[in-house]
Amino acid sequence: MNKLVQGYEVVIGFETHAQLSTHSKIFSRAPTAFGAQANTQACAVDMALPGTLPVMNIGAVERAIAFGLAINAHVAERSIFARKNYFYPDLPKGYQISQFEIPVVQGGEVSFFLEEGKETVHKTVRLERAHLEEDAGKSLHEDFIGQSGIDLNRAGTPLLEIVTQPDIRSSEEAVAYAKELHKIVTWIGICDGNMQEGSFRCDANVSVRKPGAPLGTRREIKNLNSFKFMQQAIDYEVRWQIDQIEDGHTIQQATVLFDPDTGETRAMRTKEDAADYRYFPDPDLPPLVIGRDWVERVKGEMAELPRVMAERFVRDYALPEYDATQLTQSKAVAAYFEATAQACGQAKLASNWIMGEVSRRLNASELSIEQAPVSAAQLAALIGRITDNTISNNAARQVFEGLWNQEGEVDAIIEAKGLKQMNDTGELEKIIDDVLAANPKTEEEFKAGNAKALNGLVGPIMKASKGKANPGQVNALLMKKLG
Ligand code: ADP
Ligand code: MG
Repeated sequence: MNKLVQGYEVVIGFETHAQLSTHSKIFSRAPTAFGAQANTQACAVDMALPGTLPVMNIGAVERAIAFGLAINAHVAERSIFARKNYFYPDLPKGYQISQFEIPVVQGGEVSFFLEEGKETVHKTVRLERAHLEEDAGKSLHEDFIGQSGIDLNRAGTPLLEIVTQPDIRSSEEAVAYAKELHKIVTWIGICDGNMQEGSFRCDANVSVRKPGAPLGTRREIKNLNSFKFMQQAIDYEVRWQIDQIEDGHTIQQATVLFDPDTGETRAMRTKEDAADYRYFPDPDLPPLVIGRDWVERVKGEMAELPRVMAERFVRDYALPEYDATQLTQSKAVAAYFEATAQACGQAKLASNWIMGEVSRRLNASELSIEQAPVSAAQLAALIGRITDNTISNNAARQVFEGLWNQEGEVDAIIEAKGLKQMNDTGELEKIIDDVLAANPKTEEEFKAGNAKALNGLVGPIMKASKGKANPGQVNALLMKKLG
């Protein structure tokens, strides 16, 4: 059963524009690099000078094929480019070249885990299609001189528009989907994933309905370029739509923008229908034909996919599925895990440390794993000292702290901080005897049948040993002494 909001079911479908990482544009040789001075990267084709013709960039097609393979979709053997006609100052041709009836990537799905309360839920979102298209230019409004200009650097930048079925049921699922998709496109290297620069922009189509009712009318929130805003925008939109319906209004299909300053969505324009664009096949471009051998070649060149790698982690390292998914968030995290696990032979402990202490410290200092001051070899050495009983888990956290602050290698830090566990039974027994003598009541209670009474002794014993006693050993010795 899906979670309801005030008795309504939330329905969301995503359209994501992933900018493909080619060096040149989709139909011209102009460069795609970000941040250049206005109109220095627009050639005659991008400016739509009469008589110019588009030529398909093979690199863009290859990236679309790789995406299709990554999400188990059908890569069409023959797809068609169409003209999507509309007038806008940043679109000098008067149409955008896109794919309409027959896209290059058809079907497929994206699966991911998300936390719902204490549970980890597995979710699959079906994709409808992914098609190749060109980006438009950009209008620059210079308020202080009261003029607007057009920058065509972005015109003709290759995009893959990835469209889901309306399978998403909450803002949390929406964010989890977007993060997973982001992971896939960056992992396979078809998109740099830079959201601030607009390389990965999401549009969320949102509607609400009473459970079991037909789909409600949707409003499309455009250009969500941060995961945080995505969640805020959808939550706001859902509440707004429910309020409208509860107040007796109907929802008008519209395109809206999220304003991070007010936390509200605002209607930009009423939504056009496909018919308004007068799509027709672009006579300047032949059908895009992709032979099976080409698909096979791209497949052969692709690195292991995150979900395949996660399955291997479950199989080879006996990790829970959840751990395997977390550890394959990026290639760098996965490599760090594998290096640690192989060096210490303790995959589950390596996973716990990486998902726990390492991630916590990285997040707190806003570092990526490549920048972690603790190497995989050092983490493995630390884990080795836990499993050979040299240090307790508590002490290990202090050693980790030392590693993080670059205080030296594992053994040197253990030595310097005096963290070695007390493995000398004689010394420990003496401490236990002293603590027992100081707490005669506890012994009586224990002998009278209250096994829990001993818990009260562990603290003082650990304290007397300055935290160096091994709690397991303390328990064993206590039991032995008290029969
Ligand atoms: P358009 O042609 O206007 O872009 P599409 O039919 O291609 O519309 O759908 C765009 C996106 O909207 C898809 O992700 C689709 O799943 C989603 N969608 C369609 N209908 C609804 C709805 N009623 N509620 C939420 N999302 C929807
Ligand atoms: Mg669409």
